[in-house]
Amino acid sequence: PLPEIHFATNNFDPKLLIGKGGFGNVYRGTLRDGTKVAVKRSELGLGQGFLEFQTEITILSKIRHCHLVSLIGYCAEQSEMILVFEFMEKGSLRDHLYNSDFPYLPWKQRLEICIGAAQGLDYLHRGAAGGIIHRDIKSTNILLDENYVAKVADFGLSKSGPLDQSQTHVTTGVKGTFGYLDPEYFKTLQLTKKSDVYSFGVVLLEVLCARPAIDPSLPREEANLADWGIMCIQKGTIEQIVDPVLAGEINANSLRKYGEVAEKCLQEEDEERPSMGDVLWDLEYALQLQQ
Ligand code: ADP
Repeated sequence: PLPEIHFATNNFDPKLLIGKGGFGNVYRGTLRDGTKVAVKRSELGLGQGFLEFQTEITILSKIRHCHLVSLIGYCAEQSEMILVFEFMEKGSLRDHLYNSDFPYLPWKQRLEICIGAAQGLDYLHRGAAGGIIHRDIKSTNILLDENYVAKVADFGLSKSGPLDQSQTHVTTGVKGTFGYLDPEYFKTLQLTKKSDVYSFGVVLLEVLCARPAIDPSLPREEANLADWGIMCIQKGTIEQIVDPVLAGEINANSLRKYGEVAEKCLQEEDEERPSMGDVLWDLEYALQLQQ
């Protein structure tokens, strides 16, 4: 069973704050046995949803995969909620793409990170848990451990209500982030596994051109990365969007294959998008072409 971890909850040291997210503040912490952890703390509390929350985290704690950030414990009360995750030493993919305080990632390593994240997501979609839709894939939610192994974070905890294993799509409580959100959602108001594939396609573009999914400072046709990226790929001018620092090291065949994968993921119609398993195969091929 998932350990219930007890904290002196009124006693979080601001020096240990790593960041702020949708759920609440995230702190660095250490368990008694020395294990480093990330502690997510929300002061919103659970109110009536206490039992559902417990069921949900029990399911989540059983999901173990080398490319998914593990939930290792929790503490829940009516007025406070704390989730304890394995600590991801190197921060997020987003940090490495846009923040110059973080080391530059070479192309081969970027491909390996995308492949790792694709493996994690493929497992979630097909896994023993019966198929879970992430609903908020973005570069902030792809974290890196001390060896730069990518792990997908923030899955499963729906923002409005319990995770229902029998559901193949989620109709309530959209979690997605603007710029990554499946265009089909606006027609159907449903998120599916193929919505995750779309969001992953946006991440693939971010990895290639090191600019955010939405950049309002750019001209209208370039402001939305998905639209701009797909236009360049279709015109055969993918080279135009590649980050200039990366351009020198990417093999042309690897780039072409990678562009094809991103294009398939970003199809308007969700049936035309590949499964995460197919995306994984294609990315592995793009890596082979680079070697
Ligand atoms: P969001 O809700 O926006 O996805 P999170 O609450 O997941 O954000 O995370 C906020 C910040 O905490 C991020 O900058 C992320 O890098 C960091 N963080 C989250 N989880 C971990 C973890 N397991 N290990 C290390 N850092 C983490």
